[in-house]
Amino acid sequence: MSSATSPLARTPSVKATTSTSTSCKRISRSPSGSPPSRHAPAARVSPPSPPSSICAKLNADVRSNAVLDAPYFDLAGHVDSRVYSISNVRYRDGSNDHTAAVLDVGVQRLLPSPSTPPPSPTRSKNAPSPFLVQRTGYGARAMFASEPLRAGFTILVERPVMLAPYIIGTALYEETEAQIFHTLLAQLPPETQARVLTLSSCKSVEECDVLLGIIRTNALPVTLPVPTDVLHPELPTHRALFLDTSRCNHSCAPNARWHWDPATLSLSLIAVRPIGLGDEITISYLPGTHLLLPRQTRQSLLLSAYNFSCCCAACIRMDEAESDAARFELGRVTWNVPKFEEWIADRKQVFSDALLVEAHTRRVLLIESEGLESICDNSKPGSCSPSLGGAVPKTATALPLTQYTRHLDALAMAYGALGDARNFREWTWRARESRPLSDVGSAKVLQAWITDIASFPVWGWRRRL
Ligand SMILES: [Zn+2]
Repeated sequence: MSSATSPLARTPSVKATTSTSTSCKRISRSPSGSPPSRHAPAARVSPPSPPSSICAKLNADVRSNAVLDAPYFDLAGHVDSRVYSISNVRYRDGSNDHTAAVLDVGVQRLLPSPSTPPPSPTRSKNAPSPFLVQRTGYGARAMFASEPLRAGFTILVERPVMLAPYIIGTALYEETEAQIFHTLLAQLPPETQARVLTLSSCKSVEECDVLLGIIRTNALPVTLPVPTDVLHPELPTHRALFLDTSRCNHSCAPNARWHWDPATLSLSLIAVRPIGLGDEITISYLPGTHLLLPRQTRQSLLLSAYNFSCCCAACIRMDEAESDAARFELGRVTWNVPKFEEWIADRKQVFSDALLVEAHTRRVLLIESEGLESICDNSKPGSCSPSLGGAVPKTATALPLTQYTRHLDALAMAYGALGDARNFREWTWRARESRPLSDVGSAKVLQAWITDIASFPVWGWRRRL
């Protein structure tokens, strides 16, 4: 669920992939705020500046939104610089995927050439679906595991059916924005259109158009490459609507996380801990590390953005103060938790062995007790990638490592450097199990360490100091 003007937004990532425009129409901002014409000429119409009241509100919203990361946003300049293209994206990778997109023409030009297939799911397409969508006891549809799923399992890989800028410069008026999304909807096959219209909306019909409510409720923030050599570049964050992932409800202790792959224009939904048969599959609607906020704050953010009172497993616990304290501790700057790299290079032994082990073990326990295995250090794609002391090369498309995995890595490597074979094997195994199954490179390295502890590059090194 995300709203163009909400300070919140479901997490982001970057994009670009297999796309072929079979139809492409330009739209430009209508001076009167009237609906954009699908048949408007490519030449730009010079629009008047948006009203100052709208500028002030949206500037404030965008600048304070960590997901958008645009502290110098200038709405008037942004609007004046936009020319959009509506396209019907089809993929040349053998899939029947379809994306109706409205994009800045500069962004459109940067989309990668079609035909890159999405990442393989954890198993073949012919296998039974690991999830099903069913109505819950209170009537809403939700996603459930149709079999036991292990941590790291890729539950699904899907492409968006709609893709649009986070703020559509031509659509400063709700009516116009709604019409743009109706134009996109009309580009989709009839059965897809029908599925879109069955998605839930947290907005009443009095608040906004039904389709706009569906978009604001379910679209996820994804990032696309944008031209940077212009005065007012498009915001990298865009809104993407996914049919299956939209069925995932929110939890403040989610058992899955999603990842946007810019190279294939696809989203992967990944289990972050074992999920039992029949268990509901949940994600976080709160961006970044907002799950670490106190319960009352989380609930008011969710109520404001999505109009529901969260009653997830974390929010119905009796020990609210204890839970808030644990999350606060996890959110604190980790100056007192030395990284493995700092500790191993610390020849003066400022950081004691016990401090390193105890600090990381404590955080592992806190994360597990709060169900926060999904929290990442940094939500920007490619900004944190497998480390393992450099044993696994960094790749641009690597999934961000979770804090949980980073702590497990630190413990595994610390025990290796201490020459503690039993603990080294145990924590290395846990570090391997916490990773997405698609992270084959890390799994190989970790398995090699388990098989032959002496292959760990600094085995017993700290013990020899
Ligand atoms: Zn909750």
